[in-house]
Amino acid sequence: LPIIRAQSYPGYTPEANFYKVEAILRPWRIQQVSSALLKMGIRGITVSDVRGFGAQGGSAERQAGSEFSEDNFVVKVKMEIVVSKDQVEEVIAKIIDQARTGEIGDGKIFVSPVADIIRVRTGERGEKAERMTGGRSDMSSVGSSTT
Ligand code: ATP
Ligand code: GLN
Repeated sequence: LPIIRAQSYPGYTPEANFYKVEAILRPWRIQQVSSALLKMGIRGITVSDVRGFGAQGGSAERQAGSEFSEDNFVVKVKMEIVVSKDQVEEVIAKIIDQARTGEIGDGKIFVSPVADIIRVRTGERGEKAERMTGGRSDMSSVGSSTT
């Protein structure tokens, strides 16, 4: 499959430190997407089972058995990932790379600003709450100590 990249975007509005990447994807691609995100240091992901329809109008998809339509809605999974601004494009590229089949129904990605992040266990806010043990900051500090 040829590599497809989201067209470059000059910036995000409104301006924020954190953004939510919300992807509506094929259920049978979720495992592949999440393991790729894990490899790049993403440690926090929320998924929900959803149903929807887009341009295809919710008609049954060609991939027999893997998805089905019910009341004109197609079964999808919504994946939500809150990341710092500098990780947004990398996350989008990875999702496209892993979720795309080229067929109608591959899904859509929405990006929106997030005002703050609060870790319930500690009360930490902002960057401290966003950083995850074993996440990208840990991975890059390991990398920089060897150079
Ligand atoms: P702690 O260190 O206290 O465990 P944590 O930051 O690792 O805190 P959890 O309490 O494990 O967070 O997270 C609870 C749920 O919140 C997760 O199962 C996931 O659904 C969601 N979540 C956490 N962080 C993110 C994130 N950055 N993006 C999307 N969902 C997240
Ligand atoms: N950027 C965070 C980290 O490097 C991870 C964010 C997330 O998992 N959604 O730890």
